[in-house]
Amino acid sequence: MQNLQSPHLSGKMVKSQIAKCAEPLPIRWSRQIPQNCVPSTITVKLDPSNRWSVSLRVNDPRNLKLKSVTKQIGIDLGITSLVTTSDGEKIANPKNLKKLHKKLRLAGKSLSRKTKGSNNYQKARLILARIHAKIKDSREDYTHKLTTQIIKENQLIVVEDLAVKNMVKNHNPPPSPPGRGARGVGSDANWGELVRQLEYKAEWYGRQLIKIDRYFPSSKRCSNCGHVVEKLPLNIREWDCPECSSHHDRDINASINILRMGTRVGDRRKGTPTKKAAGLAVSVCGATVRPEGSKSRKAGAKKQKAPNSDARESRAVS
Ligand SMILES: [Zn+2]
Repeated sequence: MQNLQSPHLSGKMVKSQIAKCAEPLPIRWSRQIPQNCVPSTITVKLDPSNRWSVSLRVNDPRNLKLKSVTKQIGIDLGITSLVTTSDGEKIANPKNLKKLHKKLRLAGKSLSRKTKGSNNYQKARLILARIHAKIKDSREDYTHKLTTQIIKENQLIVVEDLAVKNMVKNHNPPPSPPGRGARGVGSDANWGELVRQLEYKAEWYGRQLIKIDRYFPSSKRCSNCGHVVEKLPLNIREWDCPECSSHHDRDINASINILRMGTRVGDRRKGTPTKKAAGLAVSVCGATVRPEGSKSRKAGAKKQKAPNSDARESRAVS
């Protein structure tokens, strides 16, 4: 690794020497290593689609903190819309995924017709793996752009601390768009990764991320009068409050409640002196809003992991 040099241009093929390799490897760099940064770890991977990648871990001392802004946002993560914001904006999954999922189904069928171990089987397996890789890349790229935009535009970001798996496995998912299975939709919803990125980017850029308890009834509470309805099945996308007759879009109403809950938590935190105020990702265990007898206390507490603040990864694909 000692001869591994930061290239001047990303996207260009540069030959780099890696320890234990006889010859320099041609590497296409995805981005430049920040100045004066020496990689501490290097990971070389071969994925099922036969692509090699080299990841470098560097300790980046740069201060990326942005100038404070006043905007605050509540985010509801869902299946019908990937992200719904308290501004009333609904953000869907990237469009190209639909096409790729169709290709994926066809490639899967093709593979199932081949004799295991045969040459044609190997070829079909590689085709399938390449489509999987494309979907992964596309999702990753989209999630990065989305989280960076959210972080740059808002000072306070409030999300629900979701039990992601429970949501994907929900037995009554909302109706999927025609020609698209519920499984495909669920796998596109990259909630866990989305929240993880918001967490570390908040730290980098000096924003505050608040995660509220996932048992806070964000959907069932009227954001206008505070009335909580008893039941709101997942297939109900719009509803009217029986108390104040406000008409609600399910997800927008939820995201407004999420923001409100988050600002309340944020205000409470302001009163307590903390060393790190801005850019601190906090997880809130709202015991007052958790249903009685809930067993999730442990699960909620487990999420309180400090985000990785100084280690950033730079990826290069050969
Ligand atoms: Zn109401």
